Amino acid sequence: MMQGNYNRQAVYSTRRKRRRRREILRRIKICLLTFVVTAAVVCATVFIFGLIKGQQYDEGFIPSPYGSNVSERVEKAEELEIPDWIDVQLIHPHNTARSEIRLTDIKNIVIHYVGNPDTTAQNNRDYFDKESTTVSSHFIVGLDGEIIQCLPLYEKSAASNHRNKDTISIEVCHPDETGKFSGETYRSVVKLAAWLCYEFDLDEKDVIRHYDITEKICPKYYVEHEDKWVELKNDIENEIALLKKK
Ligand SMILES: [Zn+2]
Repeated sequence: MMQGNYNRQAVYSTRRKRRRRREILRRIKICLLTFVVTAAVVCATVFIFGLIKGQQYDEGFIPSPYGSNVSERVEKAEELEIPDWIDVQLIHPHNTARSEIRLTDIKNIVIHYVGNPDTTAQNNRDYFDKESTTVSSHFIVGLDGEIIQCLPLYEKSAASNHRNKDTISIEVCHPDETGKFSGETYRSVVKLAAWLCYEFDLDEKDVIRHYDITEKICPKYYVEHEDKWVELKNDIENEIALLKKK
């Protein structure tokens, strides 16, 4: 009788142990499954978030890239050393004048005229820097051929409408209402545009007028005198060729 009780107890104990082992295994499986599902949800969220951010970046809405479609030219613009014939006076970040939004690409160099006769490059740069100003350009070429840089090359300017996102802008000073550039100013425009083309692997055909984007009469003299515009581009072409020979 005692022996029978003992055997039954032993059987019960073994079953209890098995049941407990099965229960532990079941819990481990649930834990693993929960972990895998959570990890999958987190990964999917991060991926979708990255896609949305990438999209916004592509459209130039947000300043920082999330590894999507970062143009090689913009990457180069971050590292490019600015030559000493350019006077770097970056304006402070404020509204659209310096939004600190990165360019999506550098496809064209856009030439403008300031439209305010006899103002200097410094006058125009200081105007861009004003708290209330909403316009800007990367460069201003002055009446004596001086060149001021107002924005980093990889940031968006506010000069060329819907093409601000993928262009570098050059505003040019002029002595009078005709909008014609002085000799020194002209030479600096050629030098600057050629240098930008050379560094970003563009050619003179990629140098355009504000007019070519919106049909605004800008730069006035070079819209009203198509032959002078062609001449300016030829001079840029020759200057690029010289840089390539060096
Ligand atoms: Zn313009």
